[in-house]
Amino acid sequence: QEDMFILHHAEDDCDLGIKPMNCPAHMLVFKRDIRSYRDLPLRLAETTTLYRSEKSGTLHGLTRVRSLSQDDSHIFCRREQILGEIAALLGKIKDIYQLFNLQIDEIHLSTRPEKFLGEKSVWDEAESDLKQALEDANLKYSINEGDGSFYGPKIDVKVKDAIGRQWQLATIQLDFQLPQRFDLRYTEADGSQQAPVVIHRALLGSLERFMGVIIEHYAGVFPLWLSPVQVKVISVAEAHIPACEKLALKLRQSKLRVEIDDSNETVGNKIRKAANEKAPYTLVVGDKEAASSLVAVRDRGQKETREMELADFIKEALEKIAKKA
Ligand code: ZN
Repeated sequence: QEDMFILHHAEDDCDLGIKPMNCPAHMLVFKRDIRSYRDLPLRLAETTTLYRSEKSGTLHGLTRVRSLSQDDSHIFCRREQILGEIAALLGKIKDIYQLFNLQIDEIHLSTRPEKFLGEKSVWDEAESDLKQALEDANLKYSINEGDGSFYGPKIDVKVKDAIGRQWQLATIQLDFQLPQRFDLRYTEADGSQQAPVVIHRALLGSLERFMGVIIEHYAGVFPLWLSPVQVKVISVAEAHIPACEKLALKLRQSKLRVEIDDSNETVGNKIRKAANEKAPYTLVVGDKEAASSLVAVRDRGQKETREMELADFIKEALEKIAKKA
């Protein structure tokens, strides 16, 4: 409760908390219906905004904020499904970090602490599943003996960014306890009532923090597919503004993210500004471009201009985006 924003409701004389995490709500979603083993694994995902009352001294840019969203998911499964689910998650983690060009630096498997809840045999089995999944995925890991939560073992993944800093992003946390506390049940194949195992997992973690990490990781020079503005369109003179708008419309219709610079500054200044903004492509529109289907393309970091057909430019850009080059 210390980390929550609490409101007092005077009329009902009760305290209301602003949602700090998704877990309890997902437990209730599971509980709404009668569940059978055929429904499992059941995977619920949510990225709604969460609020945490972090102390002002601990706030830090995008990496620690009071209002955040997680790529959060809860997987409800049978014990024998743990291995398969963890293997799928590890595969996803590898894919995602490769996509953002982040190196997996360290993986920790935290095991049963001295004070734990649940049966020892369940813990042993789950820990051996986690180890096997890590080994099957060819991932190097170290074991933090006794460092798991009292409610289940977990896997933490730390990555290294371009300037060598380590960040903890993904977590996979097994939970034997929460389903018990919410009295969750499903009907097994033999008709018995069983509690599911819950896997809490976040791959990117807090999206705000992840954005902070990758903005610095790329030093603002995002690959084309990730750039907030992919094409900057620059007018040479005021007379070319309508042509710029026509061009931008065509690019947007091809799902490219475009911004026009039609300010009164010189072309040289506008090109420099686009270069500072790390725009992957800058298209300069003058008399020739306004009167034809040609575009004058400046690639990020290049001094020369390429002249080409608009259709060819769009094709090139879309191919690069599709490949996430
Ligand atoms: Zn959770």
